[in-house]
Amino acid sequence: MAQSVKGTRDLFGNELEWFQRIEDTARRAFHRHGYSEIRTPILEEIEVFKRSVGESSDIVHKEMYDFKDKGDRHVAMRPENTAGVVRAVIQHQMLATSDPQLLYYIGPMFRYERMQAGRYRQFWQIGAESFQVSTPESEAESLVMLYDFLKELGLTQLTFSINSVGTPECRPAFHEAFRAFFKTREEQFCADCHRRIAENPLRVLDCKNERCQAALEGHPVLVDYLDEASRAHHERLKEILGALGIPFVENPRLVRGLDYYTRTAFEVLSSDLGAQSALLGGGRYDGLVKQLGGPQVAAFGWSIGLDRLAMLMQQLHGNAPRKPAPILIPLGASATLKAIQLARACWAQGLDLVLETRGANLKKALTTANRVGAPLALILGDGELEQGVVAVKDLAAGTQETWNLAEVPAKLSATRA
Ligand code: AMP
Repeated sequence: MAQSVKGTRDLFGNELEWFQRIEDTARRAFHRHGYSEIRTPILEEIEVFKRSVGESSDIVHKEMYDFKDKGDRHVAMRPENTAGVVRAVIQHQMLATSDPQLLYYIGPMFRYERMQAGRYRQFWQIGAESFQVSTPESEAESLVMLYDFLKELGLTQLTFSINSVGTPECRPAFHEAFRAFFKTREEQFCADCHRRIAENPLRVLDCKNERCQAALEGHPVLVDYLDEASRAHHERLKEILGALGIPFVENPRLVRGLDYYTRTAFEVLSSDLGAQSALLGGGRYDGLVKQLGGPQVAAFGWSIGLDRLAMLMQQLHGNAPRKPAPILIPLGASATLKAIQLARACWAQGLDLVLETRGANLKKALTTANRVGAPLALILGDGELEQGVVAVKDLAAGTQETWNLAEVPAKLSATRA
């Protein structure tokens, strides 16, 4: 029997219900703040990721699902969506005026990762990107939207972990100091870090190896190498977050797994998550649009892993609250025709109602209704049809009453309230 591909899974039932509730809550938050949705393709030319995420990042270096298609184009299944969104805003000239562009996306991403709990090869992300906004105030706006969205989901143990990774101009001085520090203890670092120190020293800071993390004790920190404008930017963001009562800590090792960040980088930590404590991350990426062939514009964004968030919701709240619909059970051919018409009248009014279509006898139909947790069974047999009524069984209470056919939509609507 065929199985789903390793690292991928089918979403249905309770897990999917959490996905949908999270997505709905996110969409409402995005729309409140004036963000519009963008849907970009899963396949992009490999260059889109090489030139943005960076060839030295683990994502491109080790985890990319890339291949040559039948037309010999080298393509990749997106490992993240910022690069695709940037490619799209350039392609469609969405940055032709200086107006802010506030965009969000929801969709699957692909990374060939080692398997572990909460890590998949196909996973989902929800993300926000704002273009042509450069102020710390605009970052605060995006972070408040994110914070309130997570609060609305009932998460309480949230802390922002923030850092400034500076600009490409202030990094060389930091690199020099950091390489000098590395040299004093290079035998303590893993082979990957030896590659990273040459290619991109920032990557050493987020090596997942515990020995490397220990060896980093006392390392030079980026915020000490910021230019004046970057330092003021960083201070102002902290001031706003403080004034808004949004909890944050500063983390000098926070550089994120991607090469394109400038100035603000952040993660949201949730102590409910245990081992995988970072719920999401993001930051500013002012150079990326230009790097991908567009104009020089400011940009800021974040993305949250839906899989892990759904897992957290399940841990915190149990199964997603759901309301099974009442069920309409016709008995006999003429009652069935009437039942379909009655159901349509209910559906036309936006009411939830499941129609029993198997031609099942009453006992079998009621067994199903009980099994799925239907609150009411509306039974329409020849006797009821003659009198213009339905028998309505309250399946939890075990009581029964009779409704006139004409009043069914209004009565159903009243039970839903
Ligand atoms: P990143 O793009 O690596 O910053 O990841 C952003 C968020 O996506 C993370 O905080 C995770 O919640 C989620 N994420 C990243 N990779 C995976 C994965 N392989 N499986 C599930 N979620 C993931």
